[in-house]
Parts: sequence; structure tokens; C-alpha cells
Amino acid sequence: MRDTDLLQLALGLVPPWMVKATNFDAEARRLDIEIDFTKGGRFPCPHCAKTDCPVHDTAMQTWRHLDFFQHQAFLHARTPRITCPDCGVKQIAVPWARPGSGFTLLFEALAMTLMTAMPVAAAARLMGEHDTRMWRVLHHWVEQARERADYSEVRRVAIDETAAKRGHDYMSLFVDIDKRSVLFATEGRGAETIAKFADDLEAHNGHASNIKQVCIDMSAAFIKGVTDNLPEAEITFDKFHAVKLVNDAVDKVRRAESKGRPELKRTRYLWLKNEPSLSARGRRQLAALTTLHLKTARAYQIRLAFQEIRAGSANLNNALSGFSA
Ligand SMILES: [Zn+2]
Repeated sequence: MRDTDLLQLALGLVPPWMVKATNFDAEARRLDIEIDFTKGGRFPCPHCAKTDCPVHDTAMQTWRHLDFFQHQAFLHARTPRITCPDCGVKQIAVPWARPGSGFTLLFEALAMTLMTAMPVAAAARLMGEHDTRMWRVLHHWVEQARERADYSEVRRVAIDETAAKRGHDYMSLFVDIDKRSVLFATEGRGAETIAKFADDLEAHNGHASNIKQVCIDMSAAFIKGVTDNLPEAEITFDKFHAVKLVNDAVDKVRRAESKGRPELKRTRYLWLKNEPSLSARGRRQLAALTTLHLKTARAYQIRLAFQEIRAGSANLNNALSGFSA
């Protein structure tokens, strides 16, 4: 078997495509594979699938392929335009790459696998590529997947904001609670982001009125956005923000009461921390304070009850997801 035959098999090339020549340069750490089609080779029309169309002209192209061991590998081929009797001159697509890409499909598949597991810059370093080219690959396949995405079953959505860079450039993320997948992301964190989400939902076979439940933080902008754009949605606040609300309420009671009860001064964290994380001294102080008839102690009991309900519902959810899994 000649080395060109081996590569032809490994690349999965079928006639009229074949490996014409190879050049291996150990010093430059690269393998160049020249692909060509047999003389007089004919191709189907990419438009109407008419077979055996003759070649009109060709243009040289290069694609980076999967590394050959520690060496970078490149495919080179003249890609033809054919003349179809019905459609005229048409560019044909090569079987190893998508139109417009400088990479083979296999290279892109490996790149996508890496980029789902690590930051793009890290994947680019591993593959010895510029991250701008890697981003282009990522955008293409994500866009394609999103074009096909079907949101007709989406009913429950969680929305959260996150800073893309420290302290700047907010992003809003929309997640399907039932499928645990990201539906949509957009810049900003105002009510208008929810209008954009509603548009995107409609563009993917979904409906704003399908959304029955939305989980958000307590920002007025999100509440307004949901009320205006997702008319059927019942709003629930996510647990981190709910906990904060309850804690703030306990402290408000304490501060008001401490005006007449100086022993409550500087006890803020006693009421807000969980008991096991208090020091021995803190625990003794808390135990002493809870024996007094204080409004703060009553508020504290409500906070504990709230915490228990939350823990109970989390356990229940875990038990239920165990059944459905
Ligand atoms: Zn045609």
C-alpha cells in the first residue's frame, strides 16, 4: 500500500477525490496532503442534484486538519465550480469541510469538543490556533444549533444577570428550568432583555403565553419585563434573593428594637449566621438573648422556620427527581 492510499482511506475520500501527493517536513513539524479529483471528474449539481456535471473552473484552497501525531496537518485541493445545464455555474462543496471554513470538519469537531470543556483561549492554545479562528468555528455551530432549536415546549424559565467582565457589561441569561439548558443570552439587565427573549422565543416556535413560571431576582426591571412580555407567567423569586429578603427583615426588626434594648446592639450576625457557624461565645450569647421576650427573637424563629421549609422542599425536589430520572 502506498502512503497516499493509506491517507486516502484515513481521510475517507471517495472518487473522484483522491490523494495526489504528500509532503512530510519533520523539521517544520507539518504534513501537507494534496488532494485532487481524477482528470475529467464530474460532480453532482449542488442545487438540483443533477449528476455528472462537468467542471467549469477551480480555485486552490487549504484546510487545517487533525494533527498527524505531533505534526500539524494541512489539506490542499483545487475546488471546482461545475456547469449544470439547468442551474449554470455553481460552486461545489467538498466532503471534508463546510463552505468558507479553513478547517476540516474533523478538526472543527475536535475544536468544539475542547471548547465545551474549557475556555476558548485554552482550547486555542492546545490546538495551536488563533482564538479568533476558534471563535468563528464556535459561532457557526452554535448559530446552527440555535436555528434548529425548538422552544415550543418551554414552560418554566429562570432568568439571571451576570457580569461579563468584572463590574461591567451585564448579560442576562435565560434558562429552561425543566431541561436545564440555556435558551437565550443577551447584553444588558433591564426590562428590554425580557422583550428580546420573548421575540427569540417566538422565532423558535415558542410562545410568550406558554411561559407559566419565571424565576428571577427581585430587580424591579425584571419584574416589569416579565409583567409586560410574559403575560401568563407567575413570578417566583430565586432562593438566594429570598434568603436575603428574610435576613434583611430580621435585621430591620433588631435595629428598631435595639433602641429600647441596648443588649441587642452589635448582635447583628448572631441572628443572621447559622448556629453551627457561631463561636462558643456567640452561641452562649444567642441562647441568653432568646430566653428574653424580644421581637428580634421572634423574627429569628421565623427565619429558622423559613430555612426549614426551604430545606424540606429541596429534599422533596431531590426525592422527586430521583423518581423521574
Ligand atoms: Zn443544477
